[in-house]
Amino acid sequence: MTVFSLKSGKTYTSPSLFVNPQTNDDVKALWAIDARNKLTNIDGIYVALSDYKQLSTKLGFSTKPLFTENRITVRDKIFFVDPSLDKLLGGTEEVKQKMFATGKFDRRIQKTMKDIKFSNLTTSEKSLRIMDEVYPRLQVRPLIEIQTNANADVIIAPCISLTSKTKMVERFTIAQQMLQDARILLETSSLKRYKEIKDLMNIVTFSRSIISDERNFHRIFDLLLCNNPNFVGIKIDRIVESDTIAQITLFKFFRQFYEYAKHKTGNKPPPIHFINVNELGYVGYCNAVSNIVCPIGHSPSYFFSRKKGGSTTTTPVEIDTSMKYYHPINMDYPKFKLQNPFPCACTDCKIRQSADYVPYKERPLHNRKHWLEVKDEEIREFRETPIRLDIALRDKFARANRTQLIAYLPTDPVLV
Ligand SMILES: [Zn+2]
Repeated sequence: MTVFSLKSGKTYTSPSLFVNPQTNDDVKALWAIDARNKLTNIDGIYVALSDYKQLSTKLGFSTKPLFTENRITVRDKIFFVDPSLDKLLGGTEEVKQKMFATGKFDRRIQKTMKDIKFSNLTTSEKSLRIMDEVYPRLQVRPLIEIQTNANADVIIAPCISLTSKTKMVERFTIAQQMLQDARILLETSSLKRYKEIKDLMNIVTFSRSIISDERNFHRIFDLLLCNNPNFVGIKIDRIVESDTIAQITLFKFFRQFYEYAKHKTGNKPPPIHFINVNELGYVGYCNAVSNIVCPIGHSPSYFFSRKKGGSTTTTPVEIDTSMKYYHPINMDYPKFKLQNPFPCACTDCKIRQSADYVPYKERPLHNRKHWLEVKDEEIREFRETPIRLDIALRDKFARANRTQLIAYLPTDPVLV
């Protein structure tokens, strides 16, 4: 267990979980669990810029509380607003529109991107046009100001995503320039006043094909460290946990990055966060993970199946007691089976007892409350585990029928 202090005065304990609310139900669930004082181990909130406008009021970040409570609430936890340029450059149309609606982007970008989208160019030609015509118009400063105005605890340096191998060297150069611009603004401009109270963090998005190629490792390491950041985060576009080869390379990446960063920084490597993953198993490799839609350990409901050929009225049922993982897409309406009691001991599952008692409309909220409470508990278990973290993780995965990752768990957790 390592405690990290932020310049803003807040701390987090590694292995740490930051949740990433994306919908109104996420926020409702957060406050509901928070009100029960059951959100004690989750260290903070990570919001992508595309969701910020929609969620900030509901999260209560823009309004000052009328009275201050004695206990720590969601509002007092560490707060990140990620400029998430990966979403502007590679997200769905809906997400792009939300990004433009922030008003923080050069108006010409929207038009250019529309032109490119409806042109007859090939995918790689489109990608090159975006590089030539959109990248130069991305401005670092407004994207930092939105974070400082939101009173985020750190400043995340805006950066393009590295998801294409075409002209890769040039793309890395542009990314590096943007990260360094953020540092320069913090050193020299009116943003200087934040230098002592806010940490600088780099969060860079890579495609699987770029990060799972070992030949790119050093280029990525140098990029992540290029502006002397206090924290580093990586996001991987469309990570697939069953892709074992990519996973092995990824774990190698974490190990080598740690060694490299130690060497480069005089034994003070910046803590590394792994953003939007769906496995807590990664806590053995990095200092913090984030997501709200990651499978929280298990789904609240058992799966029952009727035995084949049973014709009596009291047909025996088979109970599948293995943990069922959420898939992010199933977060709203996972397939609740008839008559299945919840095996879960979280507050909401205990009250509801069975999936049948949760009205269809309330299931998205129920699942999220369950998710938060269970995940909070899971993080606590990892922290307080009397045995080594890797053994705790192995145990967890083995019980969860999620064995494919066990083989790659480090015997010595790399950073924790
Ligand atoms: Zn539950």
